[in-house]
Amino acid sequence: MIPAILPTYSRAPLSFVRGEGTWLWTQDGTRYLDLGAGIAVNALGHAHPALVEALGDQASRLWHVSNLYDIPNQQRLADLLVDRTFADTAFFTNSGTEACELAVKMARKYWFDSGEERSTILTFEGAFHGRSSAAIAAVGTDKMTRGFGPLLPGFTQLRWGDHDALTAALTDRVAAVMIEPVQGEGGIRPVPDHCLRGLRDLCDRTGALLILDEVQCGMGRTGRLFAHEWAGIRPDIMMVAKGIGGGFPLGAVLATEAAARGMTAGTHGSTYGGNPLACAVGARVMELVTADGFLDRVSEASARLRQGLDGLVASHPAVFESLRGQGLMLGLKCLVPAAELVAAGYAEKVLTVPAADNVVRLLPPLTITDDEIAQALSRLDAAARAVTP
Ligand code: PLP
Repeated sequence: MIPAILPTYSRAPLSFVRGEGTWLWTQDGTRYLDLGAGIAVNALGHAHPALVEALGDQASRLWHVSNLYDIPNQQRLADLLVDRTFADTAFFTNSGTEACELAVKMARKYWFDSGEERSTILTFEGAFHGRSSAAIAAVGTDKMTRGFGPLLPGFTQLRWGDHDALTAALTDRVAAVMIEPVQGEGGIRPVPDHCLRGLRDLCDRTGALLILDEVQCGMGRTGRLFAHEWAGIRPDIMMVAKGIGGGFPLGAVLATEAAARGMTAGTHGSTYGGNPLACAVGARVMELVTADGFLDRVSEASARLRQGLDGLVASHPAVFESLRGQGLMLGLKCLVPAAELVAAGYAEKVLTVPAADNVVRLLPPLTITDDEIAQALSRLDAAARAVTP
């Protein structure tokens, strides 16, 4: 008999009833160190008092009004984002997948309005942009798309790191290139800064729009507000979600005025996107993540964690191949099955997340303390010992 919950996830036998900072508790009071943060969502940890307050305040006054009316929190959040990024404008969604939908529509509408037949969007092997029909077509793997055809046409997937293929494919017939500056689901694979700069140059030369998917790597995760800032480039369109809501469902598409020019009244919409509750939390998250010293502390925590993880990799040569990633978006490339290490972590009361390419992801709250980093390292060490062949 089919379960009451559609069985599209294989879940760990764990259920949490309370969270605080980097910690989660099960019903029986067992405490787990959360290095997954809801897959990079709880950027400020669980139940951050300022977010609880922002949500509670708004909830006691007004939950929902349609986008037919002005929503002051939405305006506030848009102003904060426009002020701190490349973007001139923002549209709010409820998820990263919805951000992907709009990014694709916006790029195609840009070219339609230019009177040019450019609809092809280039994407990359190992990418993940969500689970909607457009997002799975964008990625195009058999695993994602099998049985769900006919697929939305107009996506071309390129091999990761194949510069010749990219140069050949990125012609002045291409509408846009869509890429994660650090692949998350694909196994924590950062695009080197010089490659992002080269990609920006190619887009400038051909006119193709550059769409960055910063759903997982954005909102302070790499130590900058957005990961592309390290390379000193600016996208035309950017997808954001996960961390921006700190646990409340919220996403956004940010864009330059030029890229967004086709998105006029009636071309897109969302009942819930940008609702007062989500934007009250989102605006508070933005204020906290961009507060003086916050991102410096992310880099400090990252350096400390990386140093410990380098030691962990060196002391378990039969378990780990290497450490990769940036900021607090780190991946342990494993020699044993990654799922076994994740399961051994449960026994040590530490939560990590598997990714493709046999990688175990560490995406802790950006507020993780030095003491918690020390605890993370000793729990991961015990988990590694447990799976040593
Ligand atoms: N893009 C990236 C890079 C992601 O990591 C994800 C989710 O993991 C998505 C898009 C889809 O976001 P959501 O699950 O919020 O729809």
